[in-house]
Amino acid sequence: MIPGPIEFEPEVMTAVGMATTSHVAPDFIESFGRSLELMRKVWLAPSGQPFIIAGTGTLAMDMAGSNLVEQGDSVLVLSTGYFGERYAELLGRYGAEVTVLRAPAGSVPDIHAVEDALKSRRYTMMTFTHVDTSTAVRVDPEPLGALGQKYGVITVLDGVCSVAGETIRQDEWHIDVVLTASQKAVGVPPGLALMVVSERAMEKWRSRKTPVGNYYCDWQNWLPVMRAYEERRPSYFGTPAVNLVCGLEASLNLILKEGMEARFERHRKAGQTFRLAMREMGLGMIPVSEEVSANTLSAPFYPEGVKGGDFMREIAASDVILAGGLLPELKDKYFRVGHMGSVTQGDLLTTVSAISGALASCGYRK
Ligand SMILES: *Cc1c(COP(=O)(O)O)cnc(C)c1O
Repeated sequence: MIPGPIEFEPEVMTAVGMATTSHVAPDFIESFGRSLELMRKVWLAPSGQPFIIAGTGTLAMDMAGSNLVEQGDSVLVLSTGYFGERYAELLGRYGAEVTVLRAPAGSVPDIHAVEDALKSRRYTMMTFTHVDTSTAVRVDPEPLGALGQKYGVITVLDGVCSVAGETIRQDEWHIDVVLTASQKAVGVPPGLALMVVSERAMEKWRSRKTPVGNYYCDWQNWLPVMRAYEERRPSYFGTPAVNLVCGLEASLNLILKEGMEARFERHRKAGQTFRLAMREMGLGMIPVSEEVSANTLSAPFYPEGVKGGDFMREIAASDVILAGGLLPELKDKYFRVGHMGSVTQGDLLTTVSAISGALASCGYRK
C-alpha cells in the first residue's frame, strides 16, 4: 500500500514475463504501436503526441523540461511539496529562470495568486504537480490549463501520482504536457517514463533557437521512433524496455476495460473511504481540506504520543506495507498510504485494521 511501485495485475505480470523479442519484431512493433494509441485514450488526449521512453518519472520531468526550456526562459513552478521542489531544481539546470509559488504544507497556491504571477512577467512555461506524493495534496488542473491558454504559457502537469487514478482530461483542459511513470496508477513495474504532448508544445519545441541540452531526452531522437511504431514500421534510437512495453499494453487495456469514468470514480471512493476511516480513528491529515485531498494516496499524521519509528515497526510486523514521511520538515510526523490502481475495498479494510492495530500497540486510544 505504498505510493508506487503499486501491486500489479496478473495479466500485466504475464505480459512482462514473456520471452523478450527484438525491438523490431513484428509482434513487438504492434504492441508498442497499440500502447501509443491506448495512451491517448487513457490521457483523454486524442490530439496529443505520446512518448514511451525507458526511464523513471523523473526522466519524464526531465524530458519535458529539456525540450521545452531554453536558456533564460522564465518558468513558474507551483510547488505543493517535494516533487514541485524537484521540478524547480531540474528546470534550473536547463537555464530557466525559475519562480516558485508555494503554499503552506497541505494547501495549494491560490488561483488568483497564480494569475497575478502570470500577469507580472512573461513566463513561457508553468509546471504543477497534480498529486504531490510527499503531501497527498491535489491541485485542480482545469483552471490552471485555462490560465495557460489565456496567457500563452505552456502548461506541464506532473501526473506521476495521478494519471489513470485522478480525473485528467488533457485535451479538454488544455494541458500541454501530462507526464507519468509506469509504476504508479498506470500499473506496470518501474522503468517507463510516459507522457502525452500537445501540438502547441510540439510547436514550441520545433521553434527552439538552440539545441536541446540533453541528448537522451531530445525529441529529435524520439519523435521519429514514436511515429514509426505508430505506423507499424521498425525504427531505432535507443533500445526500448521491450518487456515493460508489453506490460504497458496489457495494463492500458485493463484500464480502458474498466473505463476512465468508472476508474476515476473508484479512486474517488477509495480516497474518500480511507480518509473517513482515518478521521474516525482521530487522525489528522496533511491536506487541509477534502477539496485538496488526493484520491491516489493519503498522508495521515501520527496521533499525539505515537512515535513514527514504533508505529512503522508494528506495521512491518503486519502483512501491510506502508511508506514513511517524505516532506523534510514533517518527515517524522506522518506516514503515507497509497490507494491506487488495483487496490480493492478489501485491501483498504485490511490496511485500516492494520493501522488501527499498530496504533493500539503503540498505546493509542481514541
Ligand atoms: C514518484 C513521483 C515522481 C518521480 O518518479 P520516479 O519514477 O521515482 O522518478 C515525480 N513526481 C511525482 C508526483 C511522483 O509521485
